[in-house]
Parts: sequence; C-alpha cells; structure tokens
Amino acid sequence: MDELALMREADRRALAYLETVGTRPAYPPEHAIAALAGFDEPLPATGRGGADTLSLLDTLGTPATVTNNGPNYFGFVIGATLPAAAAADRLALAWDQCASSFDGSPAAHAIEQQAGRWLLDILDLPRESAVAFGTSATTSAIAALSAARSTLLARAGWDFEADGLSGAPEIRVVVPETVHITMIKALRVLGFGLSRLVRAPVEALGRVDPARLPALDGRTILCLQAGEVNTGEFDPFATVIPVARAAGAWVHVDGAFGLWARAARRTRPLAEGVEAADSWTVDGHKWLNTPYDGAVAICRDAGALARAMNSDAAYSAASADAQKNLTLEFSRRARGIAIWAALRALGRDGVEAMVERHVGLAQALAARLRAAGYDVVNRVVLNQVLVRGRDDAETEAILKSVQEDGRVWFGATVWQGRPAFRISFSSWRTRAAHAETLATILEGAIARSDGQPAAMPRERRGEQHARP
Ligand SMILES: *Cc1c(COP(=O)(O)O)cnc(C)c1O
Repeated sequence: MDELALMREADRRALAYLETVGTRPAYPPEHAIAALAGFDEPLPATGRGGADTLSLLDTLGTPATVTNNGPNYFGFVIGATLPAAAAADRLALAWDQCASSFDGSPAAHAIEQQAGRWLLDILDLPRESAVAFGTSATTSAIAALSAARSTLLARAGWDFEADGLSGAPEIRVVVPETVHITMIKALRVLGFGLSRLVRAPVEALGRVDPARLPALDGRTILCLQAGEVNTGEFDPFATVIPVARAAGAWVHVDGAFGLWARAARRTRPLAEGVEAADSWTVDGHKWLNTPYDGAVAICRDAGALARAMNSDAAYSAASADAQKNLTLEFSRRARGIAIWAALRALGRDGVEAMVERHVGLAQALAARLRAAGYDVVNRVVLNQVLVRGRDDAETEAILKSVQEDGRVWFGATVWQGRPAFRISFSSWRTRAAHAETLATILEGAIARSDGQPAAMPRERRGEQHARP
C-alpha cells in the first residue's frame, strides 16, 4: 500500500471508531483485554508493512480501548477530543514540524504564539507572561518550579544556573495538604525532598486555611491549587496570594483542569485573585478537550522561565520566546496547535458554554444522587461529584457493580481517609441524556443494594453524613 492509500485506510478506520464512541462500552470487556496478548510476537525479521500493522492495531487495539473519547466516561477529568483539535492535529502530523523555534517551523511558532496570547486572554492572566506548551501539567510544573527556584535563589545572591544546588541557600516549599500527587513528583524530581516539604493545613472543604498558613518569606515557594482533584475546590487566592507576595514568596498555582473556571462567568469567582500568582499550570488535554499530551506552563516573569529552560546551543540559538527555551522538550511537536484550534473553533462563548454545561450537569447529578440516598461529600462547585454510599462497603460494592456493567465509567478515590467515588464531567460529548443514563444506573445500584448486610452501626452512619 502506498503512503496515501495507507493514510486513507487509517482515516477509514479512525472514522469507523468515532462512529462508535457514543455506544461502545465506556470500559473494554475482559475478552478484549485478554486478546491484547496477540501483540506479543517476536520482532519481525522482515518488515510486515504498514497495512498489515495498521490492521493488527485496529483488530486487537480498538476493542480494548477505554472510551474516554466518548460521552459516558466520567473518570479522572480527562475530557474527550474536540473535532477541531483532532483535525488540526491530524494536519500537523502530516506537516511533521520540529517546533523548537521559529527557524524550525515558522508556521508552528506563529500559531503557538497566537495560542499563547489567547490563553492569557481567556484565563485572564498577566499578558506579559511566557506561555510554554509542554506535554503535561506535571512537566509544566517542573518547568515553572525551576524558574521559581532559580529566581528566588538569584534574589538571595545565588546563581543556580552556574553553581547548582550544592551549598545554595535552602528554598522551602509549602504545599496544601491536599496537593496533587504530580506536584509532589515535580518537587521530588527537582530535588526538594519529600520530608522537607511543608504541608499547609486545609479547612473542612480541603482548601488551604489562611488562618493556619505556614510562615512565608523570600525563600519560599507556595504552591496552591485551582480545582482540587476530588472536590473541585479552589484555594482562597484573594486572601493568601497577597500575603505570600508581600513576604517575597513565589506563588505557583496548579490549575490542571480547574483554571478553566476562569473562562466562564458563572465559575470565575471561584478563582478570584489567582491572577496575582507568579506561575500557573493548566492542561489542554483535560477540560479543554484537546488530544494528549498538551499542557501549558505560564510564567509572569517571561525571562525567568526562559533562563531556567534555556537550551541554546552553538548550532541552535534562538529567541527567548522559542518553545525549546520555555519547555523541557528540545525537539518537539507543536502541542499548541491543537489548543489554538480548540480555542478558535469554540470561541470565548463556546468554552464558557462547555464549562457551564458540565458544572450544571454535575450539580443536577448531585441532587439526584442525594435524593436517591447517596452521600454527596463535596459542595459541587465545579465539575466533580464526590460520592459515597451509605457505608464504605456499599460505596465499594456500587463502584464495582457500575464498573462491571461497563456502560459508564468512573473511578475510586479516598477522601479524608475513606473510600469514595469521583464522577467528573469533562467530555464535550457529554449531554443531559448521558447524565440521565448515569443517574439512572446509580439510582438502580443503590436501590438494589438496599437491605444488604453491609449496613454499619448507627453511630458510624451519623458520622458519615457529616460534611468533611
Ligand atoms: C491531572 C492533574 C495534574 C497532572 O496533570 P498531567 O497533565 O496529567 O500531568 C495535576 N494537578 C491536578 C489538579 C490534576 O487534576
């Protein structure tokens, strides 16, 4: 098969898949997973060719996919893929640009610059900020926190880029007790040391408690979050950030999915004051519904990020706004293209409508689940619904039964020491009808589990209904 025929065949199979995302199980059946053993073959001594390879990929791979690109997947806030973003990525894949700098790809450079300006506009963050398109919120946090450390050390008279960490003044890092695990990973990789991280106590809703904020100074990085991964809650930016900045600390905000609350009038007040931070991370591949792996680090002091991430070489010098000088990648694909396409195709109104629709669906589901006897643990201010049954055993049994049923999927979590499940609305495909199916499945599950021997002693039941 020649190149164009093979591409057409890939498109044919891709379109056939897309036609099924509304109806296929949200999670693949066991037999499809077992059949993945078919990939276990010796490396071919003689190439099998593209057509045969594509065929095997589709035959074995497709049935074992998780349908997170469908409307019935409610796990992990990871969204689906908008057609405009997927289509732009498809074309960009044919371009195969090495989007390190302007010289590598003038087209990619110009489009990512535009995507960056639009992001600062729609998220309403300082317009002078650098915008770096990385692979994930995790790597974007590594980039932003590197800039933070290097800047605070420079203010203390230490040249981190030249002299490294040995003998440097210590930079303390304060994180919320509810910090996301990938922030911990970023800090660990950067050498901050887990046992040295200072945990900021949180109040009942899981937000940093301003009254118990650890001491901050000019050698502190304070990490906050916009959108806690279980509850969707926001740290009190308007109270805490001015205090931190006055003390000379650097404030970084993990807004992997929650920063998109800024794009809708209804949810924007949740993130009031976040614009006063020094750096932010946000994903495209979650709530904006762009393909993996596309995320953004935003840094108010553009020069700080460009210094920390610089990778100019004699054969490859570029401007400070070249993406290779802002991200961890050197050779890289232009992840900003899909983000540009999503923003252009949806427009300001479209992003707002998607965010508000998801929040509305989450709140309506929460009301239905409460009425059915579930314990909805969070306030449901955003797109996350944190749910328990009437006791831990029921929570686990219902989660298992829904996952086995396969029509919809969401995952387990532990909140304040006890199991719960977490339902996220983040797919552009999810409409009221899908939320209705989900509600009906869950109402049926708790009705069927009535009178089961899982019931707990009365005093524990009372305690479970207290809000965290
Ligand atoms: C998903 C998530 C991350 C990590 O994002 P990746 O893009 O998967 O690395 C960080 N923080 C929060 C709150 C998240 O939800």
